[in-house]
Amino acid sequence: MDLQLKHKVVLITGGAKGIGAAIARAVAAEGGIAVIVDRDADAANKLRDEMKSEGKACKTIHADLSSPEECSSAVEQTIREFGDLDVLVNNAGINDKIGLENGTPEKFEASLKRNLFHCYNMAHYALHALKKSRGCIANIASKVAMTGQGGTSGYASAKGAILALTREWAVELLPYGIRVNSVVPAEVMTPLYRQWLGSFPNPEQKLQEIVAKIPLGNRMTLPEEIAATVLFLISAQASHITGQHIFVDGGYVHLDRALT
Ligand code: NAP
Repeated sequence: MDLQLKHKVVLITGGAKGIGAAIARAVAAEGGIAVIVDRDADAANKLRDEMKSEGKACKTIHADLSSPEECSSAVEQTIREFGDLDVLVNNAGINDKIGLENGTPEKFEASLKRNLFHCYNMAHYALHALKKSRGCIANIASKVAMTGQGGTSGYASAKGAILALTREWAVELLPYGIRVNSVVPAEVMTPLYRQWLGSFPNPEQKLQEIVAKIPLGNRMTLPEEIAATVLFLISAQASHITGQHIFVDGGYVHLDRALT
């Protein structure tokens, strides 16, 4: 199947590590240009150098997406260098555990800035270029939006809003032929996830408890499995798919609890 991503410019927020890095690698493997926007400059540059040594196209932009100015600048830098922007992947986010009991209104607002506002800001600033390229948007949500987790109001509401915005933008952008979809992961082993597991007294035992509840294969989803779905959704092969929430979670959210 030809995904027709050759020479397409794909901007990936949080593309230096974890799921974003897997998406960047997959884009480059298809002959696309991966533009990694991340605050971890060392990890981003390491990945870029690795990809360039394999003859793949990659650019890094160091930015903290909590700043609307840095979102705007990331889009402008991309367009200045490549003349175009074909795809926006809103991937950056962090489960920062700002709950009702342990949080404050200020912390809640800061969590929305970390997890939600930059998705709107990036789409807003990228829109003129996406209209020109008849491009598309992929948003990375989380099962927490559907299941809750407890103690993480900021992250849960941001991810829920991302699912709502996926539908809202799919409607608003119909006249331009811009498709908008979400991928919804549940349990994917990444640096962020490892850090979260590390917050439990016995991380290995916690991990075993979690994978026991994942119906398909009793294993974590691989970052590459999320990336493969994102790649399909942003490709010409998904040309009639818009406004969808695609769960890549081994059946974690929807299958019968009796299975596990
Ligand atoms: P990760 O391992 O932490 O990688 C994310 C990258 O994005 C990191 O380099 C991070 O930098 C960067 N980043 C985060 N916020 C940023 C910001 N405001 N500005 C610039 N860079 C920023 O995370 P991941 O596990 O791959 O998660 C990727 C996405 O998938 C997130 O939206 C997450 O909510 C979602 N997700 C993940 C899972 C899972 O199981 N892993 C499940 C459901 C949803 P720092 O390291 O400096 O923070």
